[in-house]
Amino acid sequence: MSKRLLILGGVAEAAQLAKRAVERFAGRLEVISSLAGRVKNPRPLPGRVRVGGFGGGDGLAHYIVSEKIDLLIDATHPFAANISRNATAACRQTGTPRLILRRPSWPVGEALEVDSFATAAKAASKLGRRAFLSFGHGGLTAFAAMPDMAFVIRVIDRPEEPLPIAGATVITGRPPFSPAGEKALLREHRIDVLVSRNSGGANLPAKITAARELMIPIVLIARPPDEPGERAAGVEDALRWLSLRS
Ligand code: NAP
Repeated sequence: MSKRLLILGGVAEAAQLAKRAVERFAGRLEVISSLAGRVKNPRPLPGRVRVGGFGGGDGLAHYIVSEKIDLLIDATHPFAANISRNATAACRQTGTPRLILRRPSWPVGEALEVDSFATAAKAASKLGRRAFLSFGHGGLTAFAAMPDMAFVIRVIDRPEEPLPIAGATVITGRPPFSPAGEKALLREHRIDVLVSRNSGGANLPAKITAARELMIPIVLIARPPDEPGERAAGVEDALRWLSLRS
């Protein structure tokens, strides 16, 4: 009898995992990808897709039971700490095997790594006057009351609500980006400090490569602590975990 896998997704690795799992375990595993629904036109995914929050850990536990989920892979973004915490609680509650698929952090190198958005804001104001930011609303509030700084903020979809930083230049863009394109962008906006979360991945993102080449100081925000439990650093390891259980 085939099993059901729920992938908590929203990032590229989760999409790759869904594709590979559908191909590799056809007839043995039904794959459901879950998206929060933040991005307006997400790229199509193989298998079933559901969109929207579950209603906390209890809501996710209820979904797991009602949809007869056998296995769960938390492949969410390293900074999406709430859904990961809910997944831990829901899987404990329902006895569901759960793997965390988390890309490795980027090496810090010459960058300054700090532990919070607030510290990053302070550090950025010491290092420059024109900062490039490319993370969501939650983190932006720490940069809101900095009248001496100018900000260029990149988002995927143009926000419907105003961003918390008045007067910031908002640009849209969807990855992948190239180092050459990022260099041109940083030059065009005369960026003198780049602030990024340490989202991690196999390769450094083009914006960091570009900033390094232009000798622009980089402030990296460290990830929130990971949930306990089994983990994989890449899609291949996650597929191996699945092959032992499907
Ligand atoms: P978050 O703070 O951990 O999640 C907030 C709430 O959104 C969760 O409590 C949950 O609502 C819902 N949610 C989050 N991920 C979900 C998923 N995959 N499926 C169904 N519901 C989900 O997360 P976030 O930082 O807002 O990120 C939201 C999603 O965007 C994540 O799935 C993440 O993988 C993706 N993403 C995030 C970032 C980022 O920078 N944080 C970057 C790229 C992609 P309920 O409590 O109602 O269940």
